[in-house]
Amino acid sequence: MTIDAQPVASHFIDGKPIEDEAGENLQVIYPATGEEVASLHYATPAIVEKAIAAAKAAQQDWAAMTGTERGRILRRAADIMRDRNRELSQLETIDTGKPLQETLVADATSAADALEYFGGLAGSLTGEHIPLGNGDFVYTSRHPLGVVVGIGAWNYPTQIACWKGAPALACGNTMVFKPSETTPLCALKVAEILSEAGAPDGVYNVIQGAGEVGASLVSDPRVAKVSLTGSVPTGRKVYAAAAAQMKHVTMELGGKSPMIIFDDANIEDAVSGAILGNFYSSGQVCSNGTRVFVQSSIKQRFLDRLKERLETVIMGDPLDEVTNFGPMVSAQQCEIVMGYIEKGKAEGAQLVTGGARADMPGYFIQPTVFADVKDDMTIAREEIFGPVMAVLDFETEEEAISRANDTEFGLAAGVFTNDLTRAHRVIGQLEAGTGYINTYNLAPVEAPFGGIKASGVGRENSKEAINHYSEARSVYVAMSEVEAPY
Ligand code: NDP
Repeated sequence: MTIDAQPVASHFIDGKPIEDEAGENLQVIYPATGEEVASLHYATPAIVEKAIAAAKAAQQDWAAMTGTERGRILRRAADIMRDRNRELSQLETIDTGKPLQETLVADATSAADALEYFGGLAGSLTGEHIPLGNGDFVYTSRHPLGVVVGIGAWNYPTQIACWKGAPALACGNTMVFKPSETTPLCALKVAEILSEAGAPDGVYNVIQGAGEVGASLVSDPRVAKVSLTGSVPTGRKVYAAAAAQMKHVTMELGGKSPMIIFDDANIEDAVSGAILGNFYSSGQVCSNGTRVFVQSSIKQRFLDRLKERLETVIMGDPLDEVTNFGPMVSAQQCEIVMGYIEKGKAEGAQLVTGGARADMPGYFIQPTVFADVKDDMTIAREEIFGPVMAVLDFETEEEAISRANDTEFGLAAGVFTNDLTRAHRVIGQLEAGTGYINTYNLAPVEAPFGGIKASGVGRENSKEAINHYSEARSVYVAMSEVEAPY
């Protein structure tokens, strides 16, 4: 079957698709077969300029609309997304290789949730009244930041475009979004839909490009804020460039998150959590619990059941809804992950299952589990971003907590136990921005999401995100005479 996913044009600026063929060629590859499905162009400096100028020109009028009016447009966009969920999910599958079975419930739907949630909040973004005694008071008001740049990773292209766009637009900012060059298609659909829902021209723009295009957006003085989803090394560069001009940032970065499974846990739930936290999206999820600490007494039972369930994985054409396990996003990512698997074997971890590429076209890797992993092994320290689970044994609660925290990352953490007090005691001590008790990897729009330590700055989703896409100003109001010392 030949897939044609060619968009009308490479970029979407000022309310319309736009092409600049002077830009270098950008091939879009379907990861399940390696075939080219679209051919785009990287943004030239002229395209970057057009996008920033359009966003700048649109911002004041957008901010001058009432929150209710802005919110109505976002909620209309959410409805359009839901109506077109199947078509958008198919495109997400072609862009990323994730199985349609997954994208139908996790991508455009999550993007629509963000548009609906922040659309709902937009009309109630108000300040506070702070009484100070003797009649004096302070009032505060919330203000948009201006032009916001969004830069996305390749694992959730539709979702990331909306998790950043929805709160930014709700607060009265405009956006220039640069998707990952690996998955350039989905954000264009988000821009089209927002425009169709009534977003004025220039409010949400998408341009294609690699790191250099991202860097030129970040350093433009007209940009007030940068929201990045990406790896820690890229985060460090982008944060430093933004700091040079004192810009606001949100950094959603990588992780090596721990999941601690105690011997009183429901084993079936713990295995399900470990599967969700390691193999969903073929392991290409930032918050994955890739260090699975299992209390020694249940280790064998846990591994046996895990292996049994992983043997039922269905790999195949991701567009076939029966398939529940897709390929790596690219040949390059496939090579990186295979490199880690070889390191795991060489450093002495015990291979329980998987450990090789699947014998089929595309970039498929078998779901892989290593046991007897030691804390200092490469596969226990570095983010792999593929279907590779490291199982580590532990004896005591204190030991598990201290080993779990021994990492530069702090994105997520999970605990499986039926002891209520232990669950809260342990999760409270784990250094992570996003915690789970007896489940893993759920990210509803109502809850804050993001990392601490090297895993990030700021929060996405929930009311928390509003603080990162707007700023408070305060006014002191005196109600009596001004007293001066002389
Ligand atoms: P990268 O860090 O390689 O890239 C992220 C984005 O930044 C891409 O669009 C990339 O462009 C762009 N970029 C690269 N260099 C620069 C620069 N100097 N200035 C501006 N932009 C730049 O991440 P991946 O795309 O490989 O995604 C995987 C990573 O993302 C993992 O570490 C994962 O943990 C993290 N992630 C974090 C999430 C979170 O919410 N915490 C969620 C999802 C993923 P291009 O690649 O097109 O060249």
